[in-house]
Amino acid sequence: MNNDINTLCVKPDEKVDLNKRTTVYKGVMEKEEGKRKLKKLIRQLQDMQELLYADSGRSLLVVFQAMDAGGKDSTIRHVFGPLNPQGCRAVSFKAPTSSELAHDFLWRIHGNLPPRGYIGVFNRSHYEDVLVVKVKKLVPDTLIEKRYGHINNFERLLHDEGTRILKFYLHISKRYQKKRFVRRLEKTEKQWKFNPGDLAERKRWDDYMKAFEQVFRRCSTKYAPWYIIPAETRWFRDLAVATIVESTLQDMELRFPKPSFDPSSIVIP
Ligand code: AMP
Ligand code: MG
Repeated sequence: MNNDINTLCVKPDEKVDLNKRTTVYKGVMEKEEGKRKLKKLIRQLQDMQELLYADSGRSLLVVFQAMDAGGKDSTIRHVFGPLNPQGCRAVSFKAPTSSELAHDFLWRIHGNLPPRGYIGVFNRSHYEDVLVVKVKKLVPDTLIEKRYGHINNFERLLHDEGTRILKFYLHISKRYQKKRFVRRLEKTEKQWKFNPGDLAERKRWDDYMKAFEQVFRRCSTKYAPWYIIPAETRWFRDLAVATIVESTLQDMELRFPKPSFDPSSIVIP
């Protein structure tokens, strides 16, 4: 598994060609084994979350980006759903409101970051401002160019101040997106998820892939790495995300705080 995971991380300055990155899992693990592993990992994640909260010195930010129907919602539900809702908050970023647009693009992000002790999950993020905004040319290219640097500096600030950052791109093919859209249209209880406007974005698929490649090249850093997850194999997608989140929490060397009293000296009357 660790071998599989290492290949998913984008190295700083690495030039990614998304056409050459698989959207399906090609390793040897069986689905049943993967599901067993995920169950065990979720229990470990629950323990690590309690430790993160008790330690209360640091926080974890997990960013998800994907094309429509890429599986952001279900990954978040499967991996973070089982955690204690008192210590984990998911935020989804929609098209900016007029008051958000009246500020710089990081303003709404900063206000939604996880406080110390918490896990924050972003369904879309500040990266929309160099993805959809770039593809639709909502701001000049010269500004997009500067934004990569602003994002890196911002993430560096967060890292230095105690927030670990993980960024996941759920990679699917255009063919697979069609399959998921068709499914949404066929199932009455899924139709609400379909937005005819998504077809305009689908038309710009190649431009989005280029914009994502730029993001990976410019903004995958040692302190805030991007991971490209083959997201059509859904059990592997969940397992990969859970594995990376769990090992990052392990790596944070969190500690239960020492009591300020001697527990053995206390007698409960
Ligand atoms: P959904 O996640 O399906 O609810 O859709 C949210 C929509 O908001 C997507 O089409 C995003 O591309 C769009 N969106 C999110 N952030 C921004 C942004 N900063 N600028 C423009 N559109 C955005
Ligand atoms: Mg959508």
